[in-house]
Amino acid sequence: MSNHTRPSTYKKKQRRRPFRRKYCIFCAEKAKGIDYKQLDLIRQFTDDRGKMIPRRKAGTCAKHQRQLALAIKRARFLALLPYDAEHVRIYGR
Ligand SMILES: [Zn+2]
Repeated sequence: MSNHTRPSTYKKKQRRRPFRRKYCIFCAEKAKGIDYKQLDLIRQFTDDRGKMIPRRKAGTCAKHQRQLALAIKRARFLALLPYDAEHVRIYGR
């Protein structure tokens, strides 16, 4: 008498994670290029220390991440964006 029935009350552990579908906002807006003068836009892709937010977090596609990186670097060169936290600390930005 070997009745090996599995208990039917076995529940699969449901792991819910707050997963947000990442998408490239530049593709969504059908932006042709990213301009270094669009500071409000560019600033969204830098953190509070002035660093660029990586693609895996920002969700931008490779094409637009390259354009964004170039725009950020140009903006930094023109002193529109900080290079690193040192500048943020000194100038309060
Ligand atoms: Zn894109």
